[in-house]
Amino acid sequence: MPLPLTMSIARIALDIPLATLFDYTVDAAMDVAVGQRVIVPFGTRQMLGVVMECVASSDMDAAKIKPITRALQDCAPLSHELLRLLNFCSEYYRYPIGQTVLPALPTRLRSDEPIVVKSIVSYRLSAQGAALDLSALPKNKKVQLRILNLLLVRAHSKAELKAVATTVSAALKLLVSEGWVEEFDVTQNPHLNPLPQAGEEANEKCHLFNGAHTLTVEQQVAVDAVTSAQNFQCFLLHGITGSGKTEVYVHLMHHALQRDGQVLLLVPEINLTPQLEDYFRSRFPDVDITSLHSGLSERARLENWLDAQQGRAKIILGTRLSVFAELPKLALIIVDEEHDASFKQQDGLRYSARDVAIFRASQRGVPIVLGSATPSLESFHNAQTGRYKMLTLQQRANASARLPTVRCIHTKQNLMKDGISEILLREIELRITRGEQSLLFINRRGYAPVLMCGGCGWLSDCKNCAGKMVLHLQDQRLRCHHCGYQIRPPKVCPDCASNDLHPIGSGTQRIEEVLQERFPTARILRVDRDSTRNKRAWQTMREQIHANEVDILVGTQMLAKGHDFPALTLVGVLNPDSALYSSDFRASEKLYAQLAQVSGRAGRADKAGEVIIQTEFPDHPLYRALQRHDFNGFAAEQLAERDMAGFPPFHFQAILRAEGKVEGEVYAYLNQARTAAMALAHPVEVLGVVPAALARRANHVRAHLLIQASSRRALQTFLRDWQFDLDAIPHHKLRCALDIDPLEF
Ligand code: ADP
Ligand code: ZN
Ligand code: ZN
Repeated sequence: MPLPLTMSIARIALDIPLATLFDYTVDAAMDVAVGQRVIVPFGTRQMLGVVMECVASSDMDAAKIKPITRALQDCAPLSHELLRLLNFCSEYYRYPIGQTVLPALPTRLRSDEPIVVKSIVSYRLSAQGAALDLSALPKNKKVQLRILNLLLVRAHSKAELKAVATTVSAALKLLVSEGWVEEFDVTQNPHLNPLPQAGEEANEKCHLFNGAHTLTVEQQVAVDAVTSAQNFQCFLLHGITGSGKTEVYVHLMHHALQRDGQVLLLVPEINLTPQLEDYFRSRFPDVDITSLHSGLSERARLENWLDAQQGRAKIILGTRLSVFAELPKLALIIVDEEHDASFKQQDGLRYSARDVAIFRASQRGVPIVLGSATPSLESFHNAQTGRYKMLTLQQRANASARLPTVRCIHTKQNLMKDGISEILLREIELRITRGEQSLLFINRRGYAPVLMCGGCGWLSDCKNCAGKMVLHLQDQRLRCHHCGYQIRPPKVCPDCASNDLHPIGSGTQRIEEVLQERFPTARILRVDRDSTRNKRAWQTMREQIHANEVDILVGTQMLAKGHDFPALTLVGVLNPDSALYSSDFRASEKLYAQLAQVSGRAGRADKAGEVIIQTEFPDHPLYRALQRHDFNGFAAEQLAERDMAGFPPFHFQAILRAEGKVEGEVYAYLNQARTAAMALAHPVEVLGVVPAALARRANHVRAHLLIQASSRRALQTFLRDWQFDLDAIPHHKLRCALDIDPLEF
């Protein structure tokens, strides 16, 4: 409930890198509430801000306080719940409040341009249309029939109907000209979901719920546990791939929807969202579903955000930023693939959307479900120690679908052809003859082709970074994946003029070439960031794969995620080893998750799958655990190691990062920060100063300082005190950031 402002000072969040609110006076005639967007003078500019508090007096010199210029009335004030969440984030992640609040809003709400809610064209049956006997219509008018069937349930917006088929517009035009369907504007007529007429459908709110499976015992236990939670509780749904986690989500959503609640489903990747949206639309055809992610146009993001804010949208699918959506009827949060690193924002407010979601659920008093086949060790540990409730799905939902067999091939003891073993090539050949698909999975890290001179050993270093530039065959460029610097590949070695320049390591393009040579008639599809930048392109590729128009898929982690390809029976993993000996203590955890996920692609339907891992270390415990599908064993071993080493989840970390053009300045800053940290004598460990994993990027030297504490509280208390010191150390030439619960080093 927005509070009317009775007092005369408004404290306002502005998008400015200062950890403070700004005081303004409120004109008596002005209608200003907490959470409202206002325009205020700042220096010589007018800026948009959000009223965070209304107070009676200010510490500032009364003569200096300026009045609010104008209050925007085009949108309801932000809720207290959201403001509290943002305050928490600003505090916890040690980031300025204004730079936390404003970026959480859709861009359009950050400008003073008034929101014009565009009319939303919707369609409903006319009286004539409602009287039609659909079974008497010609069966070949499929699209028209589908539309009529949907409209029979309720009115639909054009956007919703577009999900039906690509030819919807033409079909709608015909239906309207027949006089069966009418157009109307929802914003003029917000009762989009008329309740069922008495006598029609029984008492229950009629959320259609298509194609429900009879739940397995494990699924039912999970659904019952969550639906019986009266208040906040965090559940970890640990289910192997194919165990039917999605089906559990659908049942939980159904439960929440029946109580008129909103459900927030957080997913890691943007490119999964359209597919997921179609899926949930097909399961809940009469429910308003919307999505929130950075791939949307500004206008669409605003509209979807307003749909959620006004409670129209009942299911909200989104990537990490949607954790800040207004959800007045929020009843359940689900975080799918909760272990995924993309829930962590790596700049600005460096928040973990999963962790913020947990805070949000607790603040709201609703259950939250974290789902994964390979939970993060943090969540797994929390579930084992009872902070979260563990729900386990150990069986595949479809009883005939078996888990794939996992086999390791020793790269040093087997014949290899350009990075692919002869054994794997023969298995691929076998799949081609059987009309089945194979997937070759490449771990991009350390495997992208770098140009090397056979004469002197010259490597294609980036001139700005400590990294190497990668050869892109398609457009003949050497490109740095860190800073974007690119050049045409040299014809001869820049150091010794030898013309023996060749790529080492194999990227997806290189692998594709090798396969095409070996299987000239095979249909090969490369799926990586380059080839899927365009959303439509990825959609088309998925359709090709489903139609079995592809024999071999070559790709990076993109391919591992959430896709169900029924004809896929072989997965080859080409170069996983580098992660085993990485300096990043989470590398093994990430590798296990990735391989388990990619293995889950094999044999999801009724065909048994096989996974072949090419490795120099076939006996490594990680591969052994993977072969036994023993996540728990793997996790136990990793957790024991982490405990010994004093790493998360047993300790809590924060990193102070600094980068700058001059090495001396970077280290001087960090060393002073270190001295100050030690002087505080808090019960925390101060480690470093050390160079970052990528010690130089885009001509900037990068280094950091690591703080560890045995509890979150100890860490937070320390950080609060340390902040005063950090602010006092001069650093205007540097880019500095505190990263709480960091995932990268
Ligand atoms: P996950 O998300 O855990 O990998 P999915 O939810 O995608 O698994 O389910 C895998 C497959 O099993 C899907 O095709 C789904 O339709 C099917 N499935 C899920 N639950 C059941 C069930 N109770 N009975 C039969 N099939 C099911
Ligand atoms: Zn050379
Ligand atoms: Zn570079």
